[in-house]
Amino acid sequence: MNRHYDIAIVGSGFAGSLLAMIARRLGRSVVLIERGRHPRMVIGESSTPLTNLLLEELATRFDLPTIKPLSKWGTWQQAHPDVACGLKRGFTFYHHTLEQPAPFPPDRNNQLLVVASPHDRIADTHWYRADFDHLFVNEAQKLGVDYLDETTLNQFTDSNAEIKLEGTRHGQPIAISAKLLIDATGPRGFLHQARNPGEKPLPNFPHTQALYSHFSDVGKIEPAQSAHEDKPPYPVDAAAVHHIFDGGWIWVLQFNNGITSAGIAATDEFAAKYNLREGEAAWQRILDELPALRKQFADAKPVQPFRHIPQLSFRSASIAGPRWALLPSAAGFVDPLLSTGFPLTLLGIDRLATIIERDWESSRLTPQLEIYANQTEADLLAAARLIGSLYANMNNFPVFASLSLLYFAAVSYAETARRLNKPELAPSFLLHNHPQFGPACAHLCERARNLRTEEQARQLSEDILEAIAPFNVAGLGDPRRRNWYPVEAQDLLDAAPKLHATREDIHQLLLRCGFSTASQSA
Ligand SMILES: Cc1cc2nc3c(=O)[nH]c(=O)nc-3n(C[C@H](O)[C@H](O)[C@H](O)COP(=O)(O)OP(=O)(O)OC[C@H]3O[C@@H](n4cnc5c(N)ncnc54)[C@H](O)[C@@H]3O)c2cc1C
Repeated sequence: MNRHYDIAIVGSGFAGSLLAMIARRLGRSVVLIERGRHPRMVIGESSTPLTNLLLEELATRFDLPTIKPLSKWGTWQQAHPDVACGLKRGFTFYHHTLEQPAPFPPDRNNQLLVVASPHDRIADTHWYRADFDHLFVNEAQKLGVDYLDETTLNQFTDSNAEIKLEGTRHGQPIAISAKLLIDATGPRGFLHQARNPGEKPLPNFPHTQALYSHFSDVGKIEPAQSAHEDKPPYPVDAAAVHHIFDGGWIWVLQFNNGITSAGIAATDEFAAKYNLREGEAAWQRILDELPALRKQFADAKPVQPFRHIPQLSFRSASIAGPRWALLPSAAGFVDPLLSTGFPLTLLGIDRLATIIERDWESSRLTPQLEIYANQTEADLLAAARLIGSLYANMNNFPVFASLSLLYFAAVSYAETARRLNKPELAPSFLLHNHPQFGPACAHLCERARNLRTEEQARQLSEDILEAIAPFNVAGLGDPRRRNWYPVEAQDLLDAAPKLHATREDIHQLLLRCGFSTASQSA
């Protein structure tokens, strides 16, 4: 088999398949190469408002009507009820002190609930990737993408005119040539092995590991939370649930097919103490220190083998060349905390799509790929700065909660700006290249990594509130809300001037998004 294509994409996760569909829509011939076969389990499941907006924008711009409904819980349930997913109404954080069991839930100073959507219909989701990615790859084939699964590539050659890939499929040799190669194989993936560019450290980011699985028969934490007087702003399990403790954190994501995804990300020190590489036994040892989770997982059974990632974070030393580029998900990874993987990947797909659209076979292609590489790296470093400072404060939840407001302020501002058709107000992830917010955020993260006294911590929290004020469209940090942040139309209306918009613009935006039906369908 010897074939020639405009674009070869290696890796058929949702991202590789999505870019393949877009490239077809742009008139390019595309081959998508996968070493495994669908459906298969893969990790990385929780979406966010910005993720879903980016997915919706891409599906609209490139006319992908099968994909578009997946950007909201309600339309997903209508269009693809057979594709499993989880309802995500918000971000739930609880702080725990290991070896000192305390009543659950902790007091409001040690929890943080941030609502992501006013009601279920327009809520975010957890993607059950076995089904989700299978749908994407099928859709890519319908759009004319040649799909080669169970293919092992063992040769990569970059000549002056094209990329050549050689390997085997079902025992037969194959050779593919393409004008552009996109690596969508994830961290330390295909080009990392084939070109061996090496890794660069993420500055000030700890070495971390992960251990995870999928489970059946996991209980809920709602009953414990609801035993308290205050009603939480959304059902606390219908969320990305984060349990934070010194040295690491546990995620719990519940799907509507009875499966729950759960795992831990932790520093090397923590991983060594609990011997994470031991798998299930280590997981049980950690749950034994967390009574609320031990109870929630009392009847749980792993339905997948436990998987251990000995080196979680990653940054490739090079991201693009004249005829090739790594997707952001292959160029680097920080941590599952704050679910930054999907939005970074979708921003990268958006940028590559624009390059393919505007600069195909022009002399601008190589310089544009260089710009893409720089943007991808800068986004990754911004995520690492913030998440590194969160790791440094996992033993100090008030500071952790304050720092997380930098994330929530930046992404909710970016989401609203994009929804107002003003993407220029928020051109980079976490506003890192915004002339005020970018440097302020970097400086605050640096201070957060070096806190010595309670006074420094108090001052940092005050300074964070000051830094986010011009971008705060969600009432974040309002002490009356005591760490529970609802989605209020009023906050957005009041924030109109921060978005260079009128109250009427915001009102129209709320109508367009389906926000105002909250009371009918909540
Ligand atoms: C523990 C963990 C938790 C995460 N949680 C979240 C989260 O909650 N939210 C979020 O936004 N992000 C999360 N992420 C990040 C998220 O997983 C990625 O952003 C996302 O999976 C990227 O999708 P993708 O399609 O690019 O790559 P992948 O999903 O990794 O797919 C890569 C594909 O390439 C194939 N492949 C690999 N090597 C080869 C090869 N040599 N040849 C051919 N094919 C190959 C694989 O079989 C696979 O099908 C998490 C990551 C980890 C590690």
